[in-house]
Amino acid sequence: MIEFPQKGIRNEDIINQLNAMKSMDADWKNARIFSLVFNAGNEVKEFAEKAFNTFINENSLSPFTFPSLLRMENEVVAMMINLLGGNADTVGNMTTGGTESLMSAVKAARDYARENKPEITDPQLVMPLSAHPSINKAAHYLGIKTVIVPTDNCSVVKPDDIRASLNKNTIMLIASAPSYPHGIIDPIKEIAGIAAENNIWFHVDACVGGMVLPFLKNAGYHVPDFDLRIPGVWSISADIHKYGYSPKGASIILYRDDNLRKYQMFAYTEWPGGIYATTSVAGSRSGGPISASWGLIKYLGFEGYMRLADTAMKAVKLLQSGINSIPGLHVIGNPVSTIFAIGSDSYNIYAIGDMMKSRGWYLDSQQKPPSLHMTIMPEHIKIVENFIKDLREVTSKVAGLKEGEMGGDAALYEIINSVPDKRESTALAIQFLNDMYKVGK
Ligand SMILES: *Cc1c(COP(=O)(O)O)cnc(C)c1O
Repeated sequence: MIEFPQKGIRNEDIINQLNAMKSMDADWKNARIFSLVFNAGNEVKEFAEKAFNTFINENSLSPFTFPSLLRMENEVVAMMINLLGGNADTVGNMTTGGTESLMSAVKAARDYARENKPEITDPQLVMPLSAHPSINKAAHYLGIKTVIVPTDNCSVVKPDDIRASLNKNTIMLIASAPSYPHGIIDPIKEIAGIAAENNIWFHVDACVGGMVLPFLKNAGYHVPDFDLRIPGVWSISADIHKYGYSPKGASIILYRDDNLRKYQMFAYTEWPGGIYATTSVAGSRSGGPISASWGLIKYLGFEGYMRLADTAMKAVKLLQSGINSIPGLHVIGNPVSTIFAIGSDSYNIYAIGDMMKSRGWYLDSQQKPPSLHMTIMPEHIKIVENFIKDLREVTSKVAGLKEGEMGGDAALYEIINSVPDKRESTALAIQFLNDMYKVGK
């Protein structure tokens, strides 16, 4: 057992220990990872840290005590409304991340349905399989059933399949721009049409795309409409802590108007501690993500973000042609943004990921189909050649291995997918978490 320390140690030793632990982690600063930390280089990072630290201790729970945070949150939302095609009626809030933005949107849709469609007693939410699991989590927390629409191997959901999944209990449709696993933009316009015909709440999850697609479009890449410019879109989420390059804790949720947003809010007026009212799930929130977001949008501006998106896209094109030139490997589907996945018809792709890891490249394993995830950031432009060289070598090594010698996550996915009852595979994953979050394991 580790004891709570009796005496404090007031010297640099602790910071040295922290840095020593950090040195064991994945090397994101040298663009060795393809998820989790959005890296636009040192200059942007140092500015973001300064802007973050300016309000690191302030608490945006009370806009009366810290009016500066209220002002900055409203201004960030206003700038994002402008970016994502909103108008004078559009409103929104900052949240601590994509998960909270989606939780807020699903809660709003649920409470909207409770008030406006009281005949619905078994609320359901329709979404493609490729949509983000934070939506499943929100539905689970909020007591809503999910109806998952299958996505084929290219992960493009068919609008007719969406239509066929609706019933009298459907309260909400969600689609992604783009989806996280393969970077594929769902047919937003068509789905918005289906939602409008049936008077159903339609949320666009642009958590990862909201701060890159508008800039790619302006840089001349083909990007279909995905945002509030499409009339059937009732709400949209975008994470500033992804391609907005803020440190973690920053996202936005926008609604067509106040009448939709009001269902997101919570208020309790009887508390002895005062009237308690919050916009989203979190209570106390650091001001850091708000000041960092506000600062970064002003620091980079449309042109700065466009330059970064263009650089990331150049890396994407080089990486994709490099990958497609390696026999047996291919880019999955037809991604149009800065996210894609590597698949293989010939080799165990998980073994390739495993061997890349031993060379210091961290690629997350994905399933359905088996693939390796690539979220590309501007800093990846520096590693294209080395990465492709290693990937080529690793692929030819894996080609020479026998099934038993491969390792990687293949066995894990085999176990999970061989369990017929999803409750059982869910229990396995939860058991894994229970075991992992213990000292000494
Ligand atoms: C990242 C992501 C989310 C969840 O966001 P968090 O910030 O991790 O909570 C939701 N949807 C999509 C498409 C995402 O990429």
